[in-house]
Amino acid sequence: MAFMGGTFVFPGGALDEADTSDAMAARSVLGRDEARTRLGENVAADVALGLFCAGLRELYEEAGLLIAHGESGRAVDPAKVREVYAPHHAEVGHDPSRFAAFLEEEGLTLSTELLVPHGRLITPERSPIRFDARFFVAPMPDGQAVVPHPTEVHEWLWITPGEALQRAHDKKMDVPIPTLAILQGLAETPRYEDILQGRHEQRAIEVTELSPLVTCVLAPNPGLMEGAGTNTYIVGNDEVAIIDPAVADAVYIERVAREAGKRGVVKTILITHGHIDHIGGIAPLAEQMGVEVAAFASEAQFVDRTIADGETIAIGGATLRALHTPGHAPDHLCFVLEEEQSIFAGDVVAGFGTVVVGNLHEYMATLARLRALDPVRIYPGHGPVIDDGVAKLDEYIEHRTERERQVLEALAAGLDEVPAMVKHIYADVPEALHIVAARSVLSHLEKLETEGRVTHDGERWELAG
Ligand SMILES: [Zn+2]
Repeated sequence: MAFMGGTFVFPGGALDEADTSDAMAARSVLGRDEARTRLGENVAADVALGLFCAGLRELYEEAGLLIAHGESGRAVDPAKVREVYAPHHAEVGHDPSRFAAFLEEEGLTLSTELLVPHGRLITPERSPIRFDARFFVAPMPDGQAVVPHPTEVHEWLWITPGEALQRAHDKKMDVPIPTLAILQGLAETPRYEDILQGRHEQRAIEVTELSPLVTCVLAPNPGLMEGAGTNTYIVGNDEVAIIDPAVADAVYIERVAREAGKRGVVKTILITHGHIDHIGGIAPLAEQMGVEVAAFASEAQFVDRTIADGETIAIGGATLRALHTPGHAPDHLCFVLEEEQSIFAGDVVAGFGTVVVGNLHEYMATLARLRALDPVRIYPGHGPVIDDGVAKLDEYIEHRTERERQVLEALAAGLDEVPAMVKHIYADVPEALHIVAARSVLSHLEKLETEGRVTHDGERWELAG
């Protein structure tokens, strides 16, 4: 529907107190507790059912569509909706008390059980349009036709979500961002029957509430380096930060926006480091939410604001302290969640496998810095949450220290070239992996060189002094 200066939106409107009334509840198939369960939100049961009823009422007011059934249990007669009710739908639907009275007089009950909740979106405060909306998917009632509101609706369209997205993309149709977000999620599952069956989870995006302050959305980018995928964290209540939007996948982006909306208004997007699997989702998400992107590196195109080492970001009951933690990547930040004594560790620590290290000297300093914080939990960029952060960091430090000791030992034994050292140290590792091992040995040698403990002449290495 065209609304607010020519933009297209779904039919809908504000929840009126009378939508939550007993009179309205009496005209609904769903009871209040059931409505609350289906909505899946922490709101009062009368408000939950009120939202379902308001959705159907607004649909009737703005589009003349009535999703209800009569006393026989059969859907409301479409001919009657068209011919008898249509002239008054805008006035009747405008006023909840009048709407409830109308339903009672006509012996109609709202088919609230057909509405599938499709999430909630809240716009950030600096957005020009304040927007806190729940969305529902409903079937088009058989035999009924759209009768637009005579003054509020200037133009209406009945098209698929995919087509709407295409038109919005081609700039042939102006669609506000919250509507766009919902369209993106719907585009993959445009049929009501499929949505009903899938209970509105089109493609399974794994979401885990990890603590009162933290939700994790698993990005759909599994791989050798990513494991199951990148962990995107949503932190805070009422006001939230999103850490590492990973990929530009429409279903995932919509899910991140929806889960963030459950916690509150998104204030900022924080980036641990500029690797593609941590920033791939920035463009669609930042555009959708209109929020700033903050990271350590200032040269990167996507960064609106740079974060300095030690800077504290207070948001929605969470205090995030940024630590510059190079090693895996030069621009790497970890965020300490002070309230939990936990760390969002990006790619410094992995929930599985080993971490790829760019600069071992810096990486070891980073590990030591994190270890000194005695972290309870580590929220890694990939893999499951680590509940004993101290033990994990000790394990990492010990593993690298042991390797360093082996390299020093090999040098002392007169092995002065990397391939020979690899053969000696990795004797029990298949030769196919020796290229990877060589990279690791070389990074140890470079670290020792930085520390002045070894020197080299071309390919030949020796202990310093
Ligand atoms: Zn990385």
